[in-house]
Amino acid sequence: MVADIRNFVGGAFVEPDERCWDKISPVDGSVLARVHEADAELVDRAVAAARGALDGWAATAVTTRTAVLRRVADRIEARFEEFVQAECGDTGKPYRQARELDVARAIANFRSFADTVGAAGQPSFLTDLADGRKALNYAVRKPLGVVAVIVPWNLPLLLLTWKVAPALACGNTVVVKPSEETPSSATLLAEVLDEAGLPAGAYNVVHGFGPDSAGQFLVEHPGIDGVTFTGSTATGSAIMRAVASRVRSVSFELGGKNAALVFADADLDATLDGLTRSVFANTGQVCRCTQRVYGERPVFDEVVAGLAERARGLQLGRPDADATTTGPLISREHREKVLGYYKLAEEAGAKTVVGGGIPALGDNLDGGSWIEPTIWTGLSNADRPMREEIFGPVASLVPFDTEEEAIALANDTDYGLASSVWTTNLSRGHRVAQRMNVGMSWVNTWFLRDLRSPFGGVGLSGIGREGGEHSLDFYTEPTNVCIQL
Ligand code: NAD
Repeated sequence: MVADIRNFVGGAFVEPDERCWDKISPVDGSVLARVHEADAELVDRAVAAARGALDGWAATAVTTRTAVLRRVADRIEARFEEFVQAECGDTGKPYRQARELDVARAIANFRSFADTVGAAGQPSFLTDLADGRKALNYAVRKPLGVVAVIVPWNLPLLLLTWKVAPALACGNTVVVKPSEETPSSATLLAEVLDEAGLPAGAYNVVHGFGPDSAGQFLVEHPGIDGVTFTGSTATGSAIMRAVASRVRSVSFELGGKNAALVFADADLDATLDGLTRSVFANTGQVCRCTQRVYGERPVFDEVVAGLAERARGLQLGRPDADATTTGPLISREHREKVLGYYKLAEEAGAKTVVGGGIPALGDNLDGGSWIEPTIWTGLSNADRPMREEIFGPVASLVPFDTEEEAIALANDTDYGLASSVWTTNLSRGHRVAQRMNVGMSWVNTWFLRDLRSPFGGVGLSGIGREGGEHSLDFYTEPTNVCIQL
C-alpha cells in the first residue's frame, strides 16, 4: 500500500485532500508515497500556528528548551532505523551512509546546538565617558521570530536539523518546507519533536514545490521573520527577491564548484582515498563534493589512473545491500541534467577516462535513476562543465606546474564553497588553504566537520555562516542595553 505523507500544522497532521503528487523511488522507479501539497491557505495556517506558539516558546527557559532538544536526539536514536529507511527510501542512498552520516548527524545537530545555546553568554563592556563616568553596555539576544526553513533533497534530514535545532534552541518557531523529492524524514521528525514535548505550533511542515507552490507561498508570506535556505544559487536568488521588499534576514547555503589541489609531495594513496570520497560521496550530490581536481604534473597521470581505478571499484546497488557504496541520482529529471553535462564535456573535447553513461544493472533497478561514476581529462576552466555545478558523480582532472598556477585555477570560479589541498608540506598546506576563496578549506581531508565551526560560502555559494555561535548570530536579534552609571 502506498503511504500518505501529510502536512503538519499546529501540532497535528492535516487531513489529506486532493492535491498530491507521487514520490517516485530513485532506486527502481516505483511509487513510494502520495505526498499532500500545501496550498497558500495551509501555508498561511502554518505561519499563523508558528506565530501563535512563538511568545510561549521564546519565554521558555533556555534550560527547558535545550532539554527538549536533548530528548529529540534521544527519540531519533530510539527510532533510528525508521529514519534510516525514510531517508534511504526517498533518496536511494546506501543504508550504511544514512546510518553513519545522515541520521547520526541529525542526532549530533540537536545535541551540539543544545550545548552551544545552553552555554552562550552575553558579552558586556564598560564605556569610559568624557566626564569620567562610565556606561554599562550589554546585549540581550531575542529570537528572530517565525523562521522559514527551506531545504534540498541531497542530505535532507542532516540539513534540516542543522537549521531546526539552533532555531528552536534560540526560541524561534519554524515552518519547514522539505524538498518535494524528500518529504519523509521531515514528517517523521514532526512525530519525534511532538514526543519530546515541543509545544504545538513550534514546528510545522508544509509539503510542496518551489514556484507557485508551498516554497513560494512561504517565502512571500508577510508573517515570516527570516528565511534560512539550503539549495541552488538560482533558488537563493529568487528567495532574496521575494523577501527584499520586507527586508527579511536570510541565511543561504548554496551551490559550489569545489576544487581539490593535489601536490606532488602528497601521500598519494591517502589522497586518492580522500579524493574518491570527495568526488563520489552521495553519488556526487553533496554541495561540497570535489568537481575539479588540479594535479601537479609529476603525479598527474598517477592521480588520474588511481581515481579511475577507485571509481571502477564503486558498487552501485540497492540501499540495503552491505556491499553498496553508491546509490542512484535523486530522480530521472536530475539524471537528464547530469547526462547533459556528460554530453557537453564530450563536445568540448573531454576524454572520458571512466564512466560517461547509464549503467545496465538488470533486475528492476533499470527503472531507477542510476548513472555511472565518471572521470574526465582534457577540459579547461573555460568549458561549461568546469564552471557550472553538475551535482553528480563526476570530476574533471587538469594538470598544473606551480603553486601559484594551482591557486589561480582553483579560485577561477564564481562559486566559493569548499576546497581541499593535498600535500605533506605543512607550510604549503596552511599557505594554500588560506588563499582559497571559499567558506571551508580542508587540508588532507574532506568534509571533516566540527559543528561549532563556521559553515557557508562566498560568491555564488551563499550569504552568512551557520554553525556553533555563528548560528546564534542568525537565529537571534540582539537588543543592546546601555546604562549610564
Ligand atoms: P533547489 O534550489 O532546486 O531546491 C531547494 C529547495 O527550495 C526545495 O525545497 C525547493 O522546493 C525549494 N524551492 C525551489 N524554488 C523555490 C522558490 N522559488 N521559493 C521557495 N522555495 C523554492 O535545490 P535542490 O535541487 O533541491 O538541491 C541541490 C542544490 O542544493 C545544489 O545546488 C547544491 O549545491 C545545493 N546545496 C547546498 C548546500 C550548502 O550547504 N551550501 C548543501 C546541500 C545542497
